[in-house]
Amino acid sequence: MVQVLERPPTASHQIVPAPKRAQDAYGRFMTYLRISLTDRCNFRCVYCMPATGMKFQPRDEHLTDEELLRVVRLCTKLGFRKLRLTGGEPTIRPHLVDLVREMKKFPGVDEISMTTNGLLLGRMADDLRAAGLDRINVSIDTLDPEKFKLITRGGRLDLVMQGIEAAEASGMTPIKLNAVVVRGHSEHEVADLAALTLTKDWEVRFLEIMPMEGVGIVYDEGLVTTEETKAELERHFGTLLPIETDPSDPARLWRIAGAKGKIGFISPISQPFCSACNRVRLTADGKLRLCLLRADEIDFREHLRAGATDEELESMLLAGIWRKPWGHGVAEGDRHTVRGMSQIGG
Ligand code: SAM
Ligand code: SF4
Repeated sequence: MVQVLERPPTASHQIVPAPKRAQDAYGRFMTYLRISLTDRCNFRCVYCMPATGMKFQPRDEHLTDEELLRVVRLCTKLGFRKLRLTGGEPTIRPHLVDLVREMKKFPGVDEISMTTNGLLLGRMADDLRAAGLDRINVSIDTLDPEKFKLITRGGRLDLVMQGIEAAEASGMTPIKLNAVVVRGHSEHEVADLAALTLTKDWEVRFLEIMPMEGVGIVYDEGLVTTEETKAELERHFGTLLPIETDPSDPARLWRIAGAKGKIGFISPISQPFCSACNRVRLTADGKLRLCLLRADEIDFREHLRAGATDEELESMLLAGIWRKPWGHGVAEGDRHTVRGMSQIGG
C-alpha cells in the first residue's frame, strides 16, 4: 500500500553548481516556488491543525512585503517560473493584491496561482485577477454543509461555493478543487465532489493525507490511498479514463466517461512523485524549505536582516537548492516535518 521510493540517481555533492540556475545534486531543476504568506487561518481543518494548542508565529518573525518580494525576485532570476501563494490562508495576508501585482512584474514569471480555502474569494477574486493572479486551487472536502463545518471546524460552505463561482467569473481558469480524503471524515464524499466534473470544466483532485506535525493521529487512523478512492469512484461512475499528464504535475489525471472536467489523484504516500520534483517552498517566516516532508530549511530572514547583498542571497539559494533531499522517506518510516501543514503551505 505505502510505497518505498525508487532509488535516487547518484548525487554529485562535490560538484559546485556552475550555471546560475537553481538545480539540485540529482539533476532536478527547480522552477516552481510555493510561497506561504502567513501561518494563520480562518479555518481549523482536522487534517491540518490540532483542535487545541495551535501556536502561531509572532508577526515580526514573518517576512515583510519588501523582504518577501526581494527573495521571490532573486528566485525568478535563478529560473523559477511558477509561483504559488499559499498559507495558512493566503487571503488573510494584508496587501495580498499588491503582492500579486508586484510579483507579476518580475521577468520570467509565467504563472501565479494560489491555494485557498475560498472563504474570502467572493469579495477578492476580481481584484486578484486584475492584479495578475492566473489560477486558483480551492480546498473543499465535502458538498455537505454540516460535514464541511465539522471538517473545517466551523467553515461556511455556501461562502466557499460563492468564492469558487466568483473566481471562475473573474476568468481564473482552470478551476481546481483539492480534497484531502480522510477516513471517518470525508471518504464517502468523493463521489459527490467528482460528480461536479460531469457538468463543470473543473479539475477535482483527491489528495492522500500526509503525516504533518500536530495531526499525526489523524494520519495514522485516516490514510485513504488513491487506490481506494479510485475504486470508490469507479463503483459510482464506471471505469475512469486516463488522461495524459505533465510529468511535473503531482496529480495523475482521469475522466469520468462523458464528463466535461477532470479527476486528479495526488498520492504522496502510495506513489511518491519525488523523482520529478521541481519545487521548493518559502515559509512565511523566511525559511526556504527544500522538501515538504523533511525539516531541512535555509534561513533567509536571518541573512536578509543581517544586511546580505543580492549576490550573497543568490549564492545561498543556489547552494541550498543543490542539497535538496532526494525524497520524503515517509514509507521508510521517516517523519521529520517539525512544522504543521499550515506553516508550510502544502
Ligand atoms: N488554506 C489554504 C487551503 O486550505 O487551500 C492553503 C494552505 S493549505 C495548508 C494547502 C493544502 O494543503 C490544502 O489543499 C489542504 O487541503 C492541504 N493539506 C492540509 N493538511 C494536509 C495534510 N495533513 N495532508 C495532505 N494535505 C493537507
Ligand atoms: Fe486553514 Fe488551509 Fe489548513 Fe484548512 S487546510 S486549516 S484552510 S491552512
